[in-house]
Amino acid sequence: LLDADGTLAGTIFEEMTALAGAHDAVNLGQGFPDEDGPAAMLEAARRAIADGANQYAPGRGVPVLREAIAAHQRRFYGLTVDPAEEVIVTTGATEAIAAALLAFAGPGDEVLTVEPFYDSYGALIELTGARHTTVPLREPDFLPDPEELAAAVTDRTRVVLLNNPHNPTGSLFGADVLAPLVEAAARHDAIIVTDEVYEHLTFDGLRHVPVATLPGAAERTLTISSAGKTFSVTGWKVGWLTGPAPLVAAVRTVKQFLTYSSGSPLQGAVALGLGLGDDVYTGLATTLQRKRDLLVDGLRGAGFAVTVPAGTYFVVADATPLLGGDVADGAALCRRLPAAAGVAAIPLTAFCHPGSAAAATASRLIRFAFCKREDVLAEAVRRLTAFG
Ligand code: PMP
Ligand code: GLN
Repeated sequence: LLDADGTLAGTIFEEMTALAGAHDAVNLGQGFPDEDGPAAMLEAARRAIADGANQYAPGRGVPVLREAIAAHQRRFYGLTVDPAEEVIVTTGATEAIAAALLAFAGPGDEVLTVEPFYDSYGALIELTGARHTTVPLREPDFLPDPEELAAAVTDRTRVVLLNNPHNPTGSLFGADVLAPLVEAAARHDAIIVTDEVYEHLTFDGLRHVPVATLPGAAERTLTISSAGKTFSVTGWKVGWLTGPAPLVAAVRTVKQFLTYSSGSPLQGAVALGLGLGDDVYTGLATTLQRKRDLLVDGLRGAGFAVTVPAGTYFVVADATPLLGGDVADGAALCRRLPAAAGVAAIPLTAFCHPGSAAAATASRLIRFAFCKREDVLAEAVRRLTAFG
């Protein structure tokens, strides 16, 4: 958790959001929507506070939310989970990831992820004392080679930590990638922890495939999601984890000493959100697909080569045309862009181990978030075009 020069590391999101603020830049760095989620959900939270739901929730989460999470898994994926023993509510997906890693990984173990990986994974794996092994994603689609990924699971691998749909690249791993991985995890008795927070943000008619739906997976898979992305309430920090009862019990044991329980007035409101009609889920994906297309076209017009994302609200652009002189790579460019162009982005190296092969590939790549109003995206494109 120290930078190369020995100082305490801050997150790239904080750094870029602060830079965006200082220069009045359009913040396409940190991924958070600029419009609120379903009004009924917001109203339910307000009502819950007024009605006195202001003391500790049960450690495993309020029953109505655990039931709504189980119903969601059945409704969208045909998965059966017991709301009493196979569901736990967490303080964002972040706590679920932390508690799962702390429950199962320690010194002498390995935790396998793809690379680039979401930034908290690197720090959390380090906190467990386990070794972090990675398999690189391959351009142009940012998918792993299925055989290479499966072969990277060994007897030392305690946890395979997946993220699908994938932040930062927006790629979507299908059964061709996931099935061999599940088989390898079974052969080596590894647990799969799968971060599916962008499960409903997929485009072009493509559907998310939860790992837990694959043959042989459910018995060893902990599935994580969060209200933050699905309902555009990233500040609520309500997440959850589902899986087999003994594995969930181990995570619950860790969670009770991390936070004990999670915010009570928001839990009933998220339960209401999960029960809303299909139009709420598809409406968000449709809106985001239009925003994706707007930003992809705009970035191309501004001279970037762009990979069209299949999911999430992130798009990766190749910044090569803007590099040169003292702006040697994407990280240097992202530190300069807010002041020079009035737009903030995130360098892909922030999601890589320093010095890795994946970091070398990522050094010319930067990530833009498109979960913003269309006029905001248009303004960002205008500024980038003028800059380029
Ligand atoms: N995992 C991924 C891949 C994410 O992009 C995020 C983003 N915020 C999180 C986890 C954290 O989710 P939460 O805010 O619910 O903790
Ligand atoms: N998940 C968000 C992103 O990837 C940011 C979350 C954070 O700031 N830690 O941009």
